[in-house]
Amino acid sequence: MNNNQIFEFFETNLEDNYNLIRDRIGEEIINLGSQDKDCLRCGLCRDNQVIRRQICFGCRLLNYLSGKDLVKDEINIEWGRMKGEKIYIVRNNSDSSELELDYNLKHYNNKLTSRISNYYDKEYFKLNNIYYYKIKNKFLNLSINSIIMKYIMLKKNYPNNISYLYNYNCSYKSNILRFKYEFEDIDNLKLNPIYGGRKKLDNQILLDIFSQLTIFFKFIANFYFCHNQPSIEYLKFSSDMCNLNFDGIEYRSAIKLFILPSVYSSISLYNSQAKKWARFFNSTECKDYHLYPLESVEIDINGSKNYNNKRFKIPYAKDYTDDRIIFYKLGNRSDDFLTIRRNYGSTILSSSFDLACFVISLLL
Ligand SMILES: [Zn+2]
Repeated sequence: MNNNQIFEFFETNLEDNYNLIRDRIGEEIINLGSQDKDCLRCGLCRDNQVIRRQICFGCRLLNYLSGKDLVKDEINIEWGRMKGEKIYIVRNNSDSSELELDYNLKHYNNKLTSRISNYYDKEYFKLNNIYYYKIKNKFLNLSINSIIMKYIMLKKNYPNNISYLYNYNCSYKSNILRFKYEFEDIDNLKLNPIYGGRKKLDNQILLDIFSQLTIFFKFIANFYFCHNQPSIEYLKFSSDMCNLNFDGIEYRSAIKLFILPSVYSSISLYNSQAKKWARFFNSTECKDYHLYPLESVEIDINGSKNYNNKRFKIPYAKDYTDDRIIFYKLGNRSDDFLTIRRNYGSTILSSSFDLACFVISLLL
């Protein structure tokens, strides 16, 4: 295989994996994180020709891409259509490749979201035709979230698609491959005189980051994405022009923002033919939960508090309901809030909580 063929393989593999997940909603999903336990990549330093032939498919791809027998955490692509790009490999222990269907969570989550839907006009994310897949291995969860996110962004022509490429398991290690970004962290961006200098970002750049964060979370809310570890380390940048047409609004910026999922992220996927949803999330805790994770909810318009929420069902004028703002306070229930989001696949307040945390992490 040459480099171009390998990148083509990554593209078809992404589509194959997405289809495999989508077509098996409601059934057992296997073959997503299969293990090759006999790979002898680690023995290669002994320069043994026999060992060289006994390496797994994934490790062999890395060797082709790098032109070397021993691949560390980064590969510089030196030829082919991706020449000049850098591939970044994240390796972690991979103990389980199990996706476990949990039938109780639908009931729990629907009950929870029903309580919140009292404050909304529309029915709040209440999915009946949904299957919850618990993933014990958080790196497999990250891979599945990346596959779904990348595929839907590709199909919906979202311009700031994440740079995930491929994942494979070898000798009890999970290997996740992605391209490196031009600006892997915000400090590099701050030092660049085009975007800031003096360790501070320009106001315009800050505004561009806020705008793209908002557009991203509005787009990904259709898939009930919860980031669940919102902090600046998941924000990556490039100096490419960002040209977005979203919800009828034209938007342009001199910088592109990419939001990477975390090992605790969760996302839903819809199979329109079967009319079924699946939800994927990392779960380490399995105890029975009956929590209400909000301390209070208030509705406000123009600074005046509206006490008329769930207790009095009075119809309002549309312009009134469109303008009102719903505030929620986590207070001393923030640990429970994160627990149910991370471990129970809950979609609770999926579009606003992560966005608010990212904005706060940028301002700190
Ligand atoms: Zn291997």
